Amino acid sequence: MQHSSLVPPVQTAAVRIQTLKVGPVAGRLRGILGLYLKPKTLDEAISVLASSGGQILAGGTDFYPALGERLPQGNVVDISGLGEIRGIVTDEHHIRIGGLTTWMEVIQSPLPPCFDALKAAARSVGSVQIQNRGTVAGNLCNASPAADGVPPLLALDAEVELSSSIAQRRMPLTQFIIGNRKTARQPGEILTGVMIPRQLENAPSAFLKLGARRYLVISISMVAVVVQSDGGRVSDARVAVGSCSATARRLVALEKDLVGKPAAAGLASSVRPEHLSPLAPIDDVRATAEYRRDASLTLIRRALEACVGRQ
Ligand SMILES: Cc1cc2nc3c(=O)[nH]c(=O)nc-3n(C[C@H](O)[C@H](O)[C@H](O)COP(=O)(O)OP(=O)(O)OC[C@H]3O[C@@H](n4cnc5c(N)ncnc54)[C@H](O)[C@@H]3O)c2cc1C
Repeated sequence: MQHSSLVPPVQTAAVRIQTLKVGPVAGRLRGILGLYLKPKTLDEAISVLASSGGQILAGGTDFYPALGERLPQGNVVDISGLGEIRGIVTDEHHIRIGGLTTWMEVIQSPLPPCFDALKAAARSVGSVQIQNRGTVAGNLCNASPAADGVPPLLALDAEVELSSSIAQRRMPLTQFIIGNRKTARQPGEILTGVMIPRQLENAPSAFLKLGARRYLVISISMVAVVVQSDGGRVSDARVAVGSCSATARRLVALEKDLVGKPAAAGLASSVRPEHLSPLAPIDDVRATAEYRRDASLTLIRRALEACVGRQ
């Protein structure tokens, strides 16, 4: 573990407070603001989180809007300088998306067909400016029910890697996101990678998102589908739906029912409303629960047809 000195390249108000002579105002502000720290290596980041604690800041596209008019409480550990956890690499069994990889890097990386859904989701995250800053890991750690990255990664059986001063552990994404903005991440853990098994890498995939308008929109429903076929029949199918429950859900009964069906136009007719029973959509300003259920059914059918149209 390295213990080099942490010199934040950007002097924020929080850091400047440390240099003020101790007076009643500086003392009060220090208590409220904490430190802004920008480690240069993963080891430094892990060590700083273990010793001083703090909130992790990556692209900041969820972090800052969540603050509203408030200032961050406590220390902020800006991990945006950790080049070693940025980018996408392939090994024998997995494709690994580093914990600081942005949506734009996902869009621009050459990836096999099973990633078409994730790429489509990446293109739908906010705008180009947001895609340039926002990271895949930030999307997962923020754990919004409407996070566009979650259904495609659930459909790919993704696992997350969490690194801390105590250990490095891996867990399936299904176990990592445990509720509306709740994850199994422990304080001091950095999400350092997302691992996707390569079994279905050549299977076509599709992502469809319905919102009140085309761009810069939070979804009413979104669907990610992967369909593998063998000898003209579906041999494996993955269907995940977001924005229709506290956490995005895989529709396991539907996936089982699709196996063995002809991988051809008409596959959508296998999807019945009962297949959506694991979902628990709510009424809110964006749509009613009933509309969400109906829209999801249509999106699933269209996504399946899009996949078999490319077999
Ligand atoms: C205008 C606008 C439009 C948007 N549109 C969409 C959209 O269409 N779809 C969508 O899904 N999202 C959207 N977002 C949300 C956001 O852009 C994404 O969720 C993005 O992927 C967040 O990544 P980030 O790096 O900016 O995370 P940050 O804001 O830096 O962090 C988010 C949370 O994750 C934690 N965190 C970040 N990285 C790590 C890590 N490696 N390890 C541990 N914890 C970490 C932070 O502590 C924080 O709690 C939008 C945001 C804005 C401002």
